[in-house]
Amino acid sequence: MQAVVALVGRPNVGKSTLFNRLTRSRDALVADIPGLTRDRKYGLGRIGSGNYLVIDTGGLGEEVDAIDLLMSGQSRQAMREATHVLFLMDGRAGVTAGDEHLAQELRTLGKPVTLVINKSDIANRDLALAEAARLGLGAPVFISAQQGSGVEALIDDIVPANDPIEPGDATLEDAADRPIRIAFVGRPNVGKSTLINRILGEDRVVVFDRPGTTRDAIDVPFERDGHAYTLIDTAGVRRRARVNETIEKFSVVKTLDAIKSADVVILVLDAQAGVSEQDAHLIGLVLDAGAALVVAINKWDGLDGSDRESVKRGLDLKLTFLDFAERHFISALHGTGVGTLFNAVLKAHASAHCEVSTADLNRLLEGLVLAHQPPMSRGRRIKLRYAHLGGHRPFTVVIHGNQTERLPGAYKRYLANGFRRALHLVGTPVVVEFRTGD
Ligand code: GDP
Ligand code: GDP
Repeated sequence: MQAVVALVGRPNVGKSTLFNRLTRSRDALVADIPGLTRDRKYGLGRIGSGNYLVIDTGGLGEEVDAIDLLMSGQSRQAMREATHVLFLMDGRAGVTAGDEHLAQELRTLGKPVTLVINKSDIANRDLALAEAARLGLGAPVFISAQQGSGVEALIDDIVPANDPIEPGDATLEDAADRPIRIAFVGRPNVGKSTLINRILGEDRVVVFDRPGTTRDAIDVPFERDGHAYTLIDTAGVRRRARVNETIEKFSVVKTLDAIKSADVVILVLDAQAGVSEQDAHLIGLVLDAGAALVVAINKWDGLDGSDRESVKRGLDLKLTFLDFAERHFISALHGTGVGTLFNAVLKAHASAHCEVSTADLNRLLEGLVLAHQPPMSRGRRIKLRYAHLGGHRPFTVVIHGNQTERLPGAYKRYLANGFRRALHLVGTPVVVEFRTGD
């Protein structure tokens, strides 16, 4: 099961600082979805060798009394979704009644809990230890979220190292044999369930349903035009007995899980509602995971000609980061455009797993450099010597050279686009990394 680490504790103990360090989050890449999550923040963990999600329960007003705050739905929900809880305290502050209350709750949670004393850079360790002992949560771990000390060891201790092969970055041979794992991702009400039902209704569902735990997304295998797929059904669409049955339809944790384990993500947007902040956050998470992507703009049926033009213009402006992905205008309700989505899925999948020999890659690099030389820097021409494939998901080319850190952004984009065009890559991000030899 996907590891999910929840950060709980009073305001100001350093939860957001730790969250930012663990996720190395740039703002746009954090799923901070107001309303839906009641301000919980979700991100992909980047520190340590394991694969995990982080939930921060921060973002609550500091004026709120600690005990209300800690016992609020906020922390509870995070604790419910987590596989591991980190209880943070400020090494300089004493333990409050609120802390003791929360500790008591955590002791009966039945999940691993680690007591973390933060701000160890400025705290008196002996005093902090004495205070921590009152919580009965075992020996604490000292860290400084701000300076980073102790953080990696803490994570390595609680999150198991990655399995050698993830579904998303399997080798070419594996990829050819396996069903393509697809996830439909989008905020509530964009039409995911309608689309999934439309697709599964049309196609042969090999196995109708497979039970899962409450949190796991359900895998639904199906076939279409001779290709095998696995649908990662985050909304539990295929599990609902009745259409109106109220189950939790949208969960950021499930969505993040699905994005990470999918070969291809189909991002569903609502043409009639436009691209919202929530969409933007989801897009950030998809980009961050390097997943292959197809964009489905749903509810195209309800718009007339001039509306369609203005929606398209709006998308051009808001989806500049997604210009590598094909856009499809569909109506899940009427079934129009749904068929061609799968051509795009196949293309994106093939692109994401594109294998290219080092020799070919270097020929391409040579051609690109010949057509357009890198600029001079400090009186010397920036040299790009050789390239090799750095990995998939996202498709990554590594280029070695001199002074590569001085390459302008425009030239880097020129190279990425050059590789993309030459290799006919669609639907996958193309990343070019540089290593400098001097
Ligand atoms: P939150 O309310 O629990 O999310 O706490 P924040 O992450 O916002 O941190 C509260 C304050 O403590 C901020 O001013 C941080 O810069 C500071 N802080 C967080 N971690 C550390 C640390 O390890 N050492 C020190 N000295 N300050 C820290
Ligand atoms: P989900 O929350 O993303 O799974 O969204 P649903 O599939 O439950 O759809 C939300 C609402 O949008 C429902 O009332 C659907 O009938 C409606 N809807 C879904 N797809 C379309 C579409 O292509 N056109 C129109 N006009 N409405 C749609």
